[in-house]
Amino acid sequence: MLAAAASLLNVPISILDVGEDTPAKQVVVPRAPLTHVDGPFTSPEAIRKLAAQVDVLTIEIEHVNVDVLDEIQRATGIEIHPSPSTIRMIQDKYIQKEHLKRNGLPLADYVAVERSVEGIKKAIAQLGLPLMLKSRTLAYDGRGNYVLKTQDDAAISAALTALADRPLYAERWVPFVKEAAVMVVRTREGIVHAYPLVETVHKDNICHIVFAPFRAPGGVSTRAELIAEEVARTFDGAGVFGVEMFILEDGTVYVNEVAPRPHNSGHYTIEACYTSQYENHLRAILGLPLGDTRMITPSSIMLNLIGTSTDPAPMLAVAEKALTVPGAHVHLYGKTGCRKGRKMGHITIIGETDAECRDRLRPLLETLAASEG
Ligand code: ADP
Ligand code: MG
Repeated sequence: MLAAAASLLNVPISILDVGEDTPAKQVVVPRAPLTHVDGPFTSPEAIRKLAAQVDVLTIEIEHVNVDVLDEIQRATGIEIHPSPSTIRMIQDKYIQKEHLKRNGLPLADYVAVERSVEGIKKAIAQLGLPLMLKSRTLAYDGRGNYVLKTQDDAAISAALTALADRPLYAERWVPFVKEAAVMVVRTREGIVHAYPLVETVHKDNICHIVFAPFRAPGGVSTRAELIAEEVARTFDGAGVFGVEMFILEDGTVYVNEVAPRPHNSGHYTIEACYTSQYENHLRAILGLPLGDTRMITPSSIMLNLIGTSTDPAPMLAVAEKALTVPGAHVHLYGKTGCRKGRKMGHITIIGETDAECRDRLRPLLETLAASEG
């Protein structure tokens, strides 16, 4: 999606990813002398090969080798966005929380945890049960989270096994009524613009549906958008930041976590906003004027197409159904190999009212339910 936005702006790009034919590489043919690079995001050689070709380097996943990015920035002075220091901070969820807390942002209580039965008991004494245990690093789509419901040794041992070999921290359980997110675009100079607050609905810890905008009473949306802008102000470097949030019964907003890149819950911006998160990410990192972040349609819904097994047929049935639904836009990513829990594509619905969008979503959910059996 970033590659598609770059193509429209006539920005030549080179992509680093494992494989010759990965989704982004299918979208743009590199323009000579650029070439795409084949290798993992952790490989120093691959990252150096990419950096040697470009003036501006950005990331779409934060689990990259940040030491090499640091070294490249010092040695060459090329623009890297967000800055390696931001990526490093966000890679460790505990350090990320400490940073947000230092900056006065609203968070659920959390504590560092020593990897032992005693260490976890200490966290339970501080934060109570249920306790949300989290891996500090390499976590996504709920992989890295463990909900501890009782404090007997067996349950704690099971948690330690589930999160084996990971540095841990713990959070107080948040009894949120809704989950939400705000995309924020930040210029190189630190000017920030929020997209509207959206409601995110998760299934098995994976973002399943996004409703845009979030319909909340009492100024919750404005408050959440201002908080998200404040979050983005605290991180160095340009680009889009995805700020995940919890909304409590009384309208309290907590920041859950931050992604230093365009985010799944901002996919709706492609069809539903004046300027998509991808185009604005590019504009921001290239130092171009930013586009308008407002919606151009009163209502929008994004449905993720998530693999249910190695068989892509169920999610393809939903995509096919979407072709018959007015206002529905199909995005299939061209990933090879469907897997349970793998994001294979998404559908964005736009409409004149929330009710119209929900009516348009219904046949897609029915197809999904039928194909899942
Ligand atoms: P990731 O998205 O990296 O897997 P998150 O920290 O966002 O990790 O957690 C995944 C999901 O787990 C959240 O979207 C939310 O549904 C739930 N969750 C996370 N932290 C808490 C918490 N402290 N209390 C209750 N639920 C939580
Ligand atoms: Mg998350």
